[in-house]
Amino acid sequence: MNYCERCHVAVENEQCPVCGETPLRLVRGDDYCFLVEKEDMWARMLLEILEDNGVHPISHDATDVVWVMRGGEKSRQCIYVPFRHWQLAQELMQTAFPE
Ligand SMILES: [Zn+2]
Repeated sequence: MNYCERCHVAVENEQCPVCGETPLRLVRGDDYCFLVEKEDMWARMLLEILEDNGVHPISHDATDVVWVMRGGEKSRQCIYVPFRHWQLAQELMQTAFPE
């Protein structure tokens, strides 16, 4: 897996699908990778689940202008997890929010 430092995403490709950056470097275990963006309430629930399972996530407010313009007052959060826990985090998320 490769990693884009600008976008904090882990990808299979040589090129970042978000910003087009290339070449990408190999991802390291402690690189924070974008997991998901969720409404504040759900984000906090997911952060708790991750913490409980030994994953140490970080999060920050998403600046989603389009979404705010649709009339929403609720804030959203982007959640990132270290790459070595990324697979586990995906599974935990699937369990918590089956879609
Ligand atoms: Zn990028």
